[in-house]
Amino acid sequence: MDKKITIAIDGFSSTGKSTLAKQLAKHLGYVYVDTGAMYRAVTLYAMQENFINSDHFNKDELIKNLHKIMLQFLFNPNLGFAEMYLNEKNVEEEIRTLAVSNLVSKVAEVSEVRIKLVEQQQKMGENKGVVMDGRDIGTVVFPKAELKLFMTASPETRAKRRFDELSQKGQNVSYDEVLKNVQERDFIDTNREDSPLVKAEDAIEIDNSTLSITAQFDKVLHLIHQTTKTL
Ligand code: C5P
Repeated sequence: MDKKITIAIDGFSSTGKSTLAKQLAKHLGYVYVDTGAMYRAVTLYAMQENFINSDHFNKDELIKNLHKIMLQFLFNPNLGFAEMYLNEKNVEEEIRTLAVSNLVSKVAEVSEVRIKLVEQQQKMGENKGVVMDGRDIGTVVFPKAELKLFMTASPETRAKRRFDELSQKGQNVSYDEVLKNVQERDFIDTNREDSPLVKAEDAIEIDNSTLSITAQFDKVLHLIHQTTKTL
């Protein structure tokens, strides 16, 4: 049996990080942690408490109330992956709406939020055997991860994927709205002061604009075998 490693997957929005991470976790018997879901759940909380909407953000109130936020991933055996719970309520669907996507990058800029979530993420991965996806996994959360991937694809490819996904779920959104959201999040995520989205020096870049899900999976499995062989 190969030694367990930490796999850090970073990249822009809608580059298929979670699809790949879920496939890998299932295949390897690893734990999958979707860190974007955690930032989304904090955003949902801030929306419910009226700390944030499209034209105002009361950061101080959010920071003051951070201790009231309890996040958990609970495994759903029917789906084969863990779902996000905010204060004991399943919020898996609510956190994926465009309303949350439109505000999440503002919440993710707040250092106090990042400190709290990064601490939890490091705890979840302390025994290795974890696939974690996000924006700062290979740079901040697990800078010593044995395998780091950095996923990219053109904004149009990504917006089309996200649009198809939301439409399939019955959400009434336009392609243009989704593209605008993807571009705005890219901008905020790469330009923020605390833990901006950058490719770690030792990360392997995967542009999957024209790569099928199966081809991508095979390519990464090969990388994992190569990595574990050298340990
Ligand atoms: O991965 P997902 O698109 O669900 O992430 C939503 C948002 O959460 C990102 O656009 C980013 O602003 C924030 N995020 C982050 N750091 C992470 C994961 C997500 O800042 N590790």
